[in-house]
Amino acid sequence: MEATTFRLLVSGLVQGIGFRPFIFRLATKHGLSGQVENRNDGVVIEVNSTLEEVRRFRDAITREAPVASSIEDVEISEIAGRLFSSFEIHQSEDISDGVTEISPDIAVCPECLEDLELQQHRISYPLINCTHCGPRFSIIRDLPYDRPNTTMAPFGMCPECEAEYNNILDRRFHAQPVACNRCGPIYSLVSRQGVSGNIQDIPVKVAELISEGALLAIKGTGGFHLVCDAFSEDGVSKLRKMKKRDGKPFALMFRDTDEARNFVEINPVEEEMLKSWKRPIVLLRKKKEITRGIADGLSTLGIMLPYMPFHHLLFKSLETPALVMTSGNFSEEPILISDEAVSKQFSDHVDGVLTYNREIYNRVDDSLTAVFGSSPMVLRRARGYTPAPIRSGLELEGIIGTGAELTASFCLGKGTNAIMSQYMGDLKNLETFDFYRQTYHRYCRLFRFSPELVVSDLHPDYLSTRFARQLAEETGAEHISVQHHHAHIASGMFSAGLEGEVIGFSFDGTGLGTDGHSWGAEVLRAGFPGFERLFHFEYMPLPGGDRAIAEPWRMALSYLYKCYGADLLNLKIPLIADNDERKIRDIITLIEKEINTPLVSSAGRLFDAVAAIAGLNYRSSYHAQSPMLLESVIDTSTRGMYTFELKGQQVSFSPMIHQIVDDLHQGISTGAIAAKFHHGLVELILQLALEVRERTGLDRVVLAGGTFQNRFLTEKIRHKLDIEQFAVYLPETIPVNDQGIAVGQLAIGAHKRNR
Ligand code: ZN
Ligand code: ZN
Ligand code: FE
Repeated sequence: MEATTFRLLVSGLVQGIGFRPFIFRLATKHGLSGQVENRNDGVVIEVNSTLEEVRRFRDAITREAPVASSIEDVEISEIAGRLFSSFEIHQSEDISDGVTEISPDIAVCPECLEDLELQQHRISYPLINCTHCGPRFSIIRDLPYDRPNTTMAPFGMCPECEAEYNNILDRRFHAQPVACNRCGPIYSLVSRQGVSGNIQDIPVKVAELISEGALLAIKGTGGFHLVCDAFSEDGVSKLRKMKKRDGKPFALMFRDTDEARNFVEINPVEEEMLKSWKRPIVLLRKKKEITRGIADGLSTLGIMLPYMPFHHLLFKSLETPALVMTSGNFSEEPILISDEAVSKQFSDHVDGVLTYNREIYNRVDDSLTAVFGSSPMVLRRARGYTPAPIRSGLELEGIIGTGAELTASFCLGKGTNAIMSQYMGDLKNLETFDFYRQTYHRYCRLFRFSPELVVSDLHPDYLSTRFARQLAEETGAEHISVQHHHAHIASGMFSAGLEGEVIGFSFDGTGLGTDGHSWGAEVLRAGFPGFERLFHFEYMPLPGGDRAIAEPWRMALSYLYKCYGADLLNLKIPLIADNDERKIRDIITLIEKEINTPLVSSAGRLFDAVAAIAGLNYRSSYHAQSPMLLESVIDTSTRGMYTFELKGQQVSFSPMIHQIVDDLHQGISTGAIAAKFHHGLVELILQLALEVRERTGLDRVVLAGGTFQNRFLTEKIRHKLDIEQFAVYLPETIPVNDQGIAVGQLAIGAHKRNR
């Protein structure tokens, strides 16, 4: 007998997350007979059904799919009739080289949290997981995604785990990291009180230490965290002392959103981000201060919710509603992942180390996000996002963008997917560059990638460019370079799926321009094939070169000198009062004699200068400190703005500097000064967008570059441009900062090659 038979091909990220059992349950619910199997190109389902039924089934698949899956397409086709008597899962074991999608790590699911109290062999088991949750990318050494290819390989399954693993109806069917108290990896706590390996005691002991103000190193999903009570001055000051070269704000982990709401504002989109299975850090508006040293001078706090089973177990024993939970590293080094490195580097600084004996293979930091308007923005793409593909309609196979330098990342093209590496930090740090190279080789193996076209930044000395040159030499691949700010705009276009030309505002700290100068505030007419530079900030001397980036007071003197000459010494402003006159004169000499003062056009340096003139920040202890402080002090009740002047292609801020100094002389608050400065920039971008539209007819605007991490600025600009009927785009799942450069390079490379 024959029956109408349909085949559904589900493509996308559908492997290793319990997709086949999900289909099995769903088909049973829909009363369908048939089969499901994994194939290289996706999951294939065959069912006896009517067309109407199979469409309903397809809709249910996309609607109810496991949280961590990402379905690209479900294709229905009618095939030769075949009669099924029941629904079956086909054990297709030969998933081979074609499978190129690897799930990111997934926060523990609600069912597993229940199992922690119900399942005899998993009572309080701190590494509980199932096909819907648990570690993935961080433990995968190779494909196919099977236990022997993960860092779970050394652990044999007990009979009970094995039975669950083999039962298609079980939530742990083919859950590669399945484990329990009897057979899985275990936690151990080393503190001054000795070693403990008892999981009933460990959360209690850790909670005790934390309540006493201890600083602990705790192994997370993709690396160690440094952890203390967010309300303990002792704990936070120990941590600050340890991180002394690095003044970056610390992220917090709150017990739940109710507790967090006492300290930050959370809107519905932000709440959804906080609770998503990706569990990123979300930047939220501070309502009140917690403890000095956590995020001094800033108006936001970076907050996340518990995501490992152990975090939940710990909060049950903790009184405090929040922990500081920051990357376990010294300034700019990669987060530590091994017990050996932790005991070597941290033992003098921490009061205890909590670890578990399952290896972290792929290091992956916490991701950082924020919500601008109602758009989620990924600012640091790592745990929960990496290495999920970014889909495109472009042929990208064999292309790699090697990224920038300060916020390093690379991006591989695999078919039409862009696969972006995790955030890695500053390549100038030797360990970070090693991490970058190692990660590249690991991705090559995981994704069966071999380079044909290597795309780097234009800057010949970036370590990512040197890496690109060497890679091209070793493999015979072609090497091209792309201007930094062009790549920023291309990443925004790629993220939004745009073609043709756009008006691009590419604002950041620095990037080598085609004229040999350092650029950083560029208004471009841009498409993938190329760009034209229409406007940019006036070139200013950068006294002392790179030193001026860490010391914003130098840049302030550069701007003041332009307006007042050596008379700047007579200004009655905090900058002159607070800094040594001899040092100020030295900087003036550098500028006058043009010694070590390269010319820069840079939005980042303008923020530096204004923050220093306003007396907010003379010396930075972390990247982008001045813009973050300046945004944080904005008095939102202030109206009015500072003005600028257009000199041909160049935007001069001399009028603005004069107005700021006048305001300071009149005792206007820094909050009002910061507001008028931001309003002025919003107006500038609006005016230039209108001017470019008038000239070119283009009405799509892409905003990209680190400057647009400034929420106040970006939301206001978006609003103004919307009113004027521009279509405005920002890279959203691709970081708007330099981590996104690699994707822009990849997209430009693809267009060059495919043309
Ligand atoms: Zn689970
Ligand atoms: Zn077991
Ligand atoms: Fe940049």
